[in-house]
Amino acid sequence: MSEFENKTVVITGASRGIGEAAARHLAALGANVVLAARSVGDIERIAAEIEKAGGKATAFACDVSRYDDVKALIARAVDLYGRLDVLVNNAGLIEPIARLADSDPEGWCQVVDVNVKGVYFGLRCAIPEMTARGGGTIINISSGAATGALEGWSHYCATKAAVLSLTRCTDKEYRGEGIRMIGLSPGTVKTEMQVAIKKSGVNPVSQLDPSVHIPPEWVAQTIAYLCGPEGDAYLGTDFSLKTDEGRAAVGLPAVS
Ligand code: NAP
Repeated sequence: MSEFENKTVVITGASRGIGEAAARHLAALGANVVLAARSVGDIERIAAEIEKAGGKATAFACDVSRYDDVKALIARAVDLYGRLDVLVNNAGLIEPIARLADSDPEGWCQVVDVNVKGVYFGLRCAIPEMTARGGGTIINISSGAATGALEGWSHYCATKAAVLSLTRCTDKEYRGEGIRMIGLSPGTVKTEMQVAIKKSGVNPVSQLDPSVHIPPEWVAQTIAYLCGPEGDAYLGTDFSLKTDEGRAAVGLPAVS
């Protein structure tokens, strides 16, 4: 029996890219998966495809920048499946890309609302559910931008740095109560986000050849790996898929 059998996993930003791949992979491993995003048609289609393939999946419309939506999402998962074992805080934005003095204050703050407040809301709602039932795993999707500086990405770098800080602080507060908090920095991944980055033409990431991006399925595989006992070595930190050590630990090919 898979370690995910009868486990409930909530994934935000599951309508495409990394979140979609994670939903499909964890459902194939036996988890009850709750897919959350704003694009209801997409998450409903993906959930139906998972169910057709023999998995267990539910779609739930959720804008992570709204506390009430996230609260309802976690409540729905517990209602449906009786518990919450894993939360993947994956929903994230990178647009609008612009140098700071050219940035649109509304767009810049929307990135804060999704990338930081959305993660905070997930933690705020999931941690009490998990601690009440003996614990759980929370994966915050991070980025090299959490510790690096890139032109045109002040909103993205600042928000991913904040997410890393949330990973560290909540690990300190709740590890003793069974919460396994882990950040995951995936490197560059072949998703719509990288298409937008390329189009911007700003900074060296936009100049990368798309062939260097890893498939989202590798990130999904890493999320499953971190949910297992091996993930304990990375509690309170960002696990990186940009290093050969990280790739080897998960059983993925080396960087070059
Ligand atoms: P993507 O293809 O653009 O997907 C982003 C996902 O986030 C979508 O499912 C989107 O769904 C969801 N989302 C955005 N705003 C939301 C909101 N307000 N409420 C709920 N969901 C929302 O991007 P991706 O590459 O898969 O990125 C996933 C995560 O990985 C992000 O946190 C990103 O920062 C991180 N990351 C990506 C890369 C990369 O190279 N791709 C590298 C490092 C880190 P809806 O639009 O349907 O709501």
